Amino acid sequence: MLSDIEIAQQAHLIPINELAASAGLTEAEFEPYGRDKAKVSLDPSRQKTAKLILVTATSGMPAGSGKTTTSIALAQGMKKVGKRAVLALREPSLGPVFGMKGGAAGGGYSQVLPMEAINLHFTGDLHAITAANNLLAALLDNARHQGQVQLREIYWRRVMDVNDRMLRNIVSGLGGPANGIPTEAGFDITAASELMAILCLATDLEDLRRRIDRIVLGIKTDGTAYTCAELGATGALLALLLEATKPNLVQSIEGNLAFVHGGPFANIAHGCNSVAATYAALKLGEYAITEAGFGSDLGAEKFFNIKCRAAGLEPAAVVLVTSTKALKWHGGVALPEIGKPNMEALKRGLCNLEAHIENLKHFGPNIVVSLNHFHTDEDAEIEVIRARAAELGVRFAVCDGFAKGGDGAIELAQAVIEAAADPKPLVHTYEPEQPILEKIDAIVTKVYGGAGADLSDAAKKDLKRLQDLGFDRLPVCIAKTPFSLTADAKALGAPKGFRVPVQRLILNAGAGFIVVTTGAIMRMPGLPKAPAAMQIDVVDGRIVGLS
Ligand code: ADP
Ligand code: MG
Repeated sequence: MLSDIEIAQQAHLIPINELAASAGLTEAEFEPYGRDKAKVSLDPSRQKTAKLILVTATSGMPAGSGKTTTSIALAQGMKKVGKRAVLALREPSLGPVFGMKGGAAGGGYSQVLPMEAINLHFTGDLHAITAANNLLAALLDNARHQGQVQLREIYWRRVMDVNDRMLRNIVSGLGGPANGIPTEAGFDITAASELMAILCLATDLEDLRRRIDRIVLGIKTDGTAYTCAELGATGALLALLLEATKPNLVQSIEGNLAFVHGGPFANIAHGCNSVAATYAALKLGEYAITEAGFGSDLGAEKFFNIKCRAAGLEPAAVVLVTSTKALKWHGGVALPEIGKPNMEALKRGLCNLEAHIENLKHFGPNIVVSLNHFHTDEDAEIEVIRARAAELGVRFAVCDGFAKGGDGAIELAQAVIEAAADPKPLVHTYEPEQPILEKIDAIVTKVYGGAGADLSDAAKKDLKRLQDLGFDRLPVCIAKTPFSLTADAKALGAPKGFRVPVQRLILNAGAGFIVVTTGAIMRMPGLPKAPAAMQIDVVDGRIVGLS
């Protein structure tokens, strides 16, 4: 089989004007960015008519579970059975593209196109967020340098869309008074920034303005919060972000509309594409298919408790992606061996699938387990998983969208259409009014299967500060490893009775949540021993090696 990029480069793309016109968009509603991308601003009078389908997965493993591939396959499968399915996906970050995981535009015959553009600079949204974030840092440091404000704590960090561990902790402003005030500082990856979360959660421009105004940049010497509104930087940030607020329209390999917009990671951020993109998909499709990052303990939990709450969304069904590889990994098989038949390990790993099904059941919407088919899968392995799903009372489908495109996802499309025909109300895990520790405990016990959380000394101080400032009644956004239901990446399967160590509680008043860092998670990833960057090149004017 051809590589992802070879398939993408051979595909026929519908010119974006034709695609938009065929979807009934008026000329005022879209603005082409070249031949195959467009920024979309739908008429506000359009109604949200589609059923919303969330795609999530069992616990992660280093190779990725296939959620994006399955989301795109599902949309293509729905198209094959005569339904109008529109995708809402996140835009890739350069961190994983050049780091460990590779691109995020799907795989095989279930991709969104143009894959190179989407994976690299696309329409510049991530650059705009990076620039706006760092403009705010510069304006803040300038106000301190000019003696306009004195802070005893600084919360705002700089960001960059590249994995670079050297920048996690730095000292800025060295070189004497003319070069600023020496300050302990650091960088996060753009995908983990509060501005990324704000852009993704804002329901319109006025909401974006209110959220940016609310950002707490630090604590003044009198102990009160110093906000972006007080600094006076909101207008400039809005100007820099204006184009980036509009969802990007592209297409699947089989011609589905796809909105690819906003890209927070699900381990260190809230993990969902923009509300604007989800709204657009809900207005243009019969089914709006969206992916939340990593496993149901991360992206899906935050999708339900943060995004659905902020944007008033009710999913009609949930697709839980798994694979024989992911289950074997959670059954204890080493990465190089997970493509080989191993029924014992697969059976051991099924506990992870069960844990995610139980987790998702408490949220309400009907569940469809989708087995992402690999060519190494054996029928007997598939039957074991099918039987377990049946025992647990959830629908099951094999999805071979990677090798066959929409034709490989017809069984899945039918199962999802059935599941979504009978929508169940969404149940949240906690209420924002609950005390912070109670909210974290609710997630640990109901979603992770653990016993509770313990605050570090630093987190206890953070808690006191949040209570004093009156910011403790916000939802929580837990930063945690995607490789385990616990906070320890090495604890595979479905551990029980564990406790989650909380390192820090970080206020994101503009995004409207408190980031809770657990275990050893970092908000600026590092690069692995063999970065994906080493395979990428340009040959005869074309990009090669992007996966
Ligand atoms: P996720 O969205 O869960 O991170 P992706 O859909 O991006 O996962 O898939 C991760 C990688 O695995 C991609 O490079 C994709 O091409 C590859 N992949 C996904 N599904 C399959 C499959 N069924 N067979 C072979 N490779 C696959
Ligand atoms: Mg993905």
